[in-house]
Amino acid sequence: MTQPPASDADPVRPDPVRPDHRQPDHGTPTGPGLALPWADGTFPPVGLGARTQVYGALMGMALHEASHALASDDVPVGALVVSPQGTLLGVGRNRREEGGDPTAHAEVLAIRQAAATLGSWRLEGCTLVVTLEPCVMCAGAIMLARVARVVLGAWDPKAGATGSVWDVVRDRRSTHRVEVVGGVREDECGAMLRDYFATHRDGTRE
Ligand SMILES: [Zn+2]
Repeated sequence: MTQPPASDADPVRPDPVRPDHRQPDHGTPTGPGLALPWADGTFPPVGLGARTQVYGALMGMALHEASHALASDDVPVGALVVSPQGTLLGVGRNRREEGGDPTAHAEVLAIRQAAATLGSWRLEGCTLVVTLEPCVMCAGAIMLARVARVVLGAWDPKAGATGSVWDVVRDRRSTHRVEVVGGVREDECGAMLRDYFATHRDGTRE
């Protein structure tokens, strides 16, 4: 396929890669992933108001993803990974029952998809948003992927590994540390789990 070269004499066919023909740059992030409404160079959010708004909106997406787990009778946990620029890199929900896979937790699946999107296992600077505090396995995956920040909804006093029962991601002995932002839309995240367990009394949460 051949195309005539763009020139100043041909204003109907502007070359989209030429900077002088681009729209004004408002800081819209480039790179892999899906652009999100607030991805305008202000991610991660600074200040209480911005954090509440942005993390709350991301948690809403994770809650929506979690709700899909109910179709396969899985514990409703949802997760997503956001790039340092604020784009969506990966989404996951608990699929343990659906796939008969004990490792198919929401966080692991979101991390795998994010790595595939980036083409790299290194998720440095990325934020993982999850409706329930990660377990030991997922905390390990977060460390191995070099995730910078975990934003979680409901704490898990029975099996949580980012501050409740264990604190794997902030262990003094490890070389990688993770920022933990807890309790984002905690009531909604907890309510979804409580509703599930009101009809499923088989023990483990995820
Ligand atoms: Zn887990």
